[in-house]
Amino acid sequence: MNTEDRNIGDVLIVGGGISGIQASLDLANSGFRVFLVDKSPALGGKMSQLDKTFPTNDCSMCIESPKFIECARNPNIEIITYTEVDRVEGEAGDFKVTLTKKPRYISEEKCTGCNICVDYCPVKISDPFNQHLSENKAVHIYFSQAVPLVTYVDPETCLYLKEGKCQICVGACKTNAIDLHQKPETMVVEVGAIILSPGYETFNPKLRGDFGYADEERGHQPRFRTHSLRHRSL
Ligand SMILES: Cc1cc2nc3c(=O)[nH]c(=O)nc-3n(C[C@H](O)[C@H](O)[C@H](O)COP(=O)(O)OP(=O)(O)OC[C@H]3O[C@@H](n4cnc5c(N)ncnc54)[C@H](O)[C@@H]3O)c2cc1C
Ligand code: SF4
Ligand code: SF4
Repeated sequence: MNTEDRNIGDVLIVGGGISGIQASLDLANSGFRVFLVDKSPALGGKMSQLDKTFPTNDCSMCIESPKFIECARNPNIEIITYTEVDRVEGEAGDFKVTLTKKPRYISEEKCTGCNICVDYCPVKISDPFNQHLSENKAVHIYFSQAVPLVTYVDPETCLYLKEGKCQICVGACKTNAIDLHQKPETMVVEVGAIILSPGYETFNPKLRGDFGYADEERGHQPRFRTHSLRHRSL
């Protein structure tokens, strides 16, 4: 990546959930150049996995997906997905950040998101985006509204990456977007500020016995505390 034309007023945002997305839009619309980095194959974070949201009962994706598009269309925002921060050097006002882009085994420039490779892939996997509640394929788009709308190949389940067999998807792709030999790519960005918006991981309730999950694992019913109400006559 050519960083020579960037100035040190540029901002790196680590985490492309709703917090990182909104921070990117606010900064970009104020004239800052933003590098929006996420370790997942697409923007969205936890909010993209929700259905209706409290307190307005709005469709979560209806709020969030227009913001994905706004980010993608904003000339001040560079979206860098499937990427993690390796090293940060320098100081506030002048950071040099080394990023590593994991191999998708797909060219983001050539993939049109047509899904033909997904239809042809013979390997079914439990879908990580849908909390493993449904199935997907070893090559798939992270979710329907994903930005960027390109596939990625799961290295844990792809027959070629595991055992050197298959490559059916390569023959099926009309734009030659699939490169099963892709390697990790290192990039360096120079920015004046860094915003960390990596969100959170959901809490494992088994760590707290009083929620009952640990009891369930031991084959007991969850415990519920009941409180008796005493009526007092005034
Ligand atoms: C089941 C559930 C229901 C909820 N319901 C509601 C609701 O009804 N109403 C409401 O207002 N809120 C609700 N929330 C909370 C809401 O979803 C979160 O507050 C919000 O999504 C947090 O956004 P975020 O951007 O801070 O973090 P996240 O959405 O967690 O996004 C963080 C992003 O950072 C990326 N990331 C993490 N680490 C790195 C790294 N090292 N390098 C690069 N990228 C990284 C992740 O891939 C992710 O995309 C709910 C949450 C849950 C779990
Ligand atoms: S990799 Fe090729 S076949 Fe698969 S979605 Fe992209 S363009 Fe379509
Ligand atoms: S090479 Fe991998 S991703 Fe492609 S079709 Fe075969 S199993 Fe699926």
